Amino acid sequence: MPELANLAAQGTLPGILRQLSGLGGCTHPIRLDGHRTEYDIDTTTGEIGRILQHLDSTSLPAGQLLVRCNNRRTTRCPACAEVYRRDTFHLITAGLRGGKGTPEQVGTHPRVFATFTAPGFGPVHNRRTDGRPCRCGLHHDQDDDTLGTPLNPDTYDYEAAVLWNAHAGQLWRRFSIYLRREVAKRAGLSQRRLRDHARVSFAKVAEYQRRGAVHFHAVIRIDGPEGGNTPPPAWATADLLTDAIETAAAKARVDGPTIDGRTHTFTFGSQLDVRTIRSADFNDGQELTERAVAAYIAKYATKGAETATGALDRPLKFVAELAQLDISDHARTLIRTAWTLGARKSLEHLRLRAWAHMLGFRGHFSTKSRRYSTTLGALRDARAEWRRAQAATARTPQPETTYVLAHWVFAGTGLSDTEAWLSASLEPAPGTEGEPTR
Ligand SMILES: [Zn+2]
Ligand SMILES: [Zn+2]
Repeated sequence: MPELANLAAQGTLPGILRQLSGLGGCTHPIRLDGHRTEYDIDTTTGEIGRILQHLDSTSLPAGQLLVRCNNRRTTRCPACAEVYRRDTFHLITAGLRGGKGTPEQVGTHPRVFATFTAPGFGPVHNRRTDGRPCRCGLHHDQDDDTLGTPLNPDTYDYEAAVLWNAHAGQLWRRFSIYLRREVAKRAGLSQRRLRDHARVSFAKVAEYQRRGAVHFHAVIRIDGPEGGNTPPPAWATADLLTDAIETAAAKARVDGPTIDGRTHTFTFGSQLDVRTIRSADFNDGQELTERAVAAYIAKYATKGAETATGALDRPLKFVAELAQLDISDHARTLIRTAWTLGARKSLEHLRLRAWAHMLGFRGHFSTKSRRYSTTLGALRDARAEWRRAQAATARTPQPETTYVLAHWVFAGTGLSDTEAWLSASLEPAPGTEGEPTR
């Protein structure tokens, strides 16, 4: 590797290793050209004074500033997806047992873990829990590629399957409105008065089933009127919450488009699963624990359609690409259906071509209500702050007395072969406290 020999000869090897280790294993960093200057401000006159720090990308060992790509997908960047998974784990955990600014007493509030599915779009190959064979007459292995694919692709309702995914986010919003209404009704309160007594908060993640339909996993919690730091009223029990969820999910309905004379309406499938979450202290090993729920949600936060259905992890530019791709026929038909529907003027708002690789789903992968717990942004800010603090051990910056002038332009992505080789040779960054390993 001649480039490596050059780096060693120039004495820049330690520098480039330091720069690469700052990426924490990110293999597709964003490269930036530019500069950043930090000035002192004279607190009496308010004038800009001397330069405290100057950074120019040309003087960096890699010749450019390298920034983590922060992609959440494991198939795109394992290191950044791992950071996303950990953050999601902390976010869910904070909402279950407190921490990161959420009070510990949320652990005593009624909480459930609920899974919402899509309705059927036609029979698919499956594994039955009662040990009987699939409708095709075979017993499928767990990793059989035909699982989740239609028994008869000609009659499978691809149009409804794609449009359901495209409306799943809206259906969830409708559900969350109905849920508050159903909780209020059971407490004998008007919807408006409910706010003076209790708050319903949630965190959810979208997951693709093998058949390519999105489903949602959610932690749903009842707090007191001020959120997590106020106790819920006596009537707020996990049973009441479960009952309200079941009714709200059954009622949620979104009117869809009319296509070639057929009017679509979207509802959740009948397979709704709601389970009470117990805190680890009261768990006898049978119940669903906080930790299991958080680990489960976090795992799915880093997966897209590509993992479950063998679809794509990036947008399609031309439909002609589809024929070249090594994907299942079922995934191909779902993508092609989204692409074809995307040509319709009346469906423009669904942006089905841009989201064809997601099988029509354009919602956020993990979302939460404001009061559930901390945000991913807050966790990221905390980490960036910690890194800055580490980098400036010699000098404590006073943010209100400095002025920063920066200009960066996008210069590309990724690492050179040598950089990638060096990056792979670095030790993985140590993890933070208390996370489960995969
Ligand atoms: Zn990355
Ligand atoms: Zn079968």
